[in-house]
Amino acid sequence: MADDSLAAELARVCGAENVLTGDAIGAEYNRDFLGVCEGRARAVVLPQNEKEVCAAARVCFQKRAPMVARGGGTGYAGAATPDAGGRAVVFAMRRMRKVTAVDFANRTITAEAGCVLETMQNAAAEKDLLFPLTLGAKGICQIGGNLATNAGGTNVLRYGDCRSLCLGLRAVLADGSAVGSLSGLRKDNSGYDIKQLFIGSEGTLGIITAAVFQLFSPPKARGCAFAALESPRRAAEFFHYCRGVLGESLTAFELMPRLLFSLLAKHLPQLRAPFAQTPPYAALFEFACESEKEAKEKTELLLAAALEKGMIADAVPAQTESARADFWLLRESAPEATKREGKWIKADVSLPLSHLPEFLEQTERELPALSPGKYITAFGHWGDGNMHISAMPENPAAAEKISEAVYDAVAKFGGSFSAEHGIGQKKITLLQKYKSPEELAAMRAVKNALDPHNLMNPGKVLAEKPQTEKENTK
Ligand SMILES: Cc1cc2nc3c(=O)[nH]c(=O)nc-3n(C[C@H](O)[C@H](O)[C@H](O)COP(=O)(O)OP(=O)(O)OC[C@H]3O[C@@H](n4cnc5c(N)ncnc54)[C@H](O)[C@@H]3O)c2cc1C
Repeated sequence: MADDSLAAELARVCGAENVLTGDAIGAEYNRDFLGVCEGRARAVVLPQNEKEVCAAARVCFQKRAPMVARGGGTGYAGAATPDAGGRAVVFAMRRMRKVTAVDFANRTITAEAGCVLETMQNAAAEKDLLFPLTLGAKGICQIGGNLATNAGGTNVLRYGDCRSLCLGLRAVLADGSAVGSLSGLRKDNSGYDIKQLFIGSEGTLGIITAAVFQLFSPPKARGCAFAALESPRRAAEFFHYCRGVLGESLTAFELMPRLLFSLLAKHLPQLRAPFAQTPPYAALFEFACESEKEAKEKTELLLAAALEKGMIADAVPAQTESARADFWLLRESAPEATKREGKWIKADVSLPLSHLPEFLEQTERELPALSPGKYITAFGHWGDGNMHISAMPENPAAAEKISEAVYDAVAKFGGSFSAEHGIGQKKITLLQKYKSPEELAAMRAVKNALDPHNLMNPGKVLAEKPQTEKENTK
């Protein structure tokens, strides 16, 4: 039952039209992107600025109501979904969507947390600068959500993830106080780096309200191609070859297996496939260079040499800017095609590049042996060792064994069970299993220091469930 006094207080600080309760709460606020996690919000508040976030947080703090920050809702870990208890207030950030500054001299961009990622990319491009963070959900996800999940994407190889790109942020704590800075300094050793606590914290420490990021000079031209590969080992060879030839100018190197192309053809037939005959694996790579001429020549030379050495079996270079855009659209549509096929067991893992081929060989051998079915193992950001694994076994009883086989192999080869999608509510048991007790204790100490009443996104990341109202007001 909604607490009217809480909603009334929120309405007082944010305006009645910016507080949703009861049937006015859209289904999207209670469900995650993949439709796996379901919860129930007590109210949804839509603040317009940091002052309103602080005021709304103070209201929640006084009433000991849990707070769940929500960006674009594209996260894969169920982290933006409230629990089923019906006590949490969802802070929907979509009204705080402005780019507030593009500082050309300082090469920085500042934006409110609800700013959509693509809006930031466009704002930087208007000033002839590059904001390199990019991912398939760029038209929906928000920069606050990107920070809270430490989003990676397809340019991590060259530019790094949110942790590397962010120069500062502002965040509101559970008690309604605000911390952080937007000064955009590249050097600042004035004590602990508080911003890094909030990056990747999935809304469990505070609500990010704004952030400043570094910008780069955009490449004058880009070389881009799909290369056909016989095996993950060949992918490793070809990647090392590209890196040797192109050095730091190699900006992206993505791998896609044959099944993914079949799913794209089935569910999104309007997209153009690069190969007439789909190879077992294909790498999509891109590099920066000085001119269109150089891009064309370097791509041709590199592909010819790789063909000659037998690393790749075939190649399709992007001859025009629109062909390049089509290639990336295909890559970025892969999650949508997979989603349309049905429900999968998913893993988002990272491995040291030196062990990636062995890891993939092992999983490609072991998973189908547990149950016949559909398996996508070698898909994702090869350049930074991050693979997205999806399994749809014919025998659903094999699900647990399949997950175990994946995570045991990840542990064996020194990888991480969560590369870029975070922990949310889906990977809490994995966190408990694979983090050392000392690391978990340190994480808890930080959580308790900043959020002693466990009001910020309870039940996510660390196992603590939201306390009952009685416990929480003690
Ligand atoms: C097609 C597709 C492709 C994707 N590709 C990638 C990829 O390449 N790389 C990658 O890393 N991810 C990828 N993702 C996952 C997802 O887009 C990212 O995790 C993204 O960063 C989530 O942003 P969001 O705004 O949608 O956050 P949400 O899903 O709304 O929230 C995610 C988490 O952030 C918290 N949060 C949101 N806003 C704030 C805030 N202002 N303050 C504090 N906490 C907040 C939420 O509470 C939750 O814990 C992809 C998703 C899709 C659908």
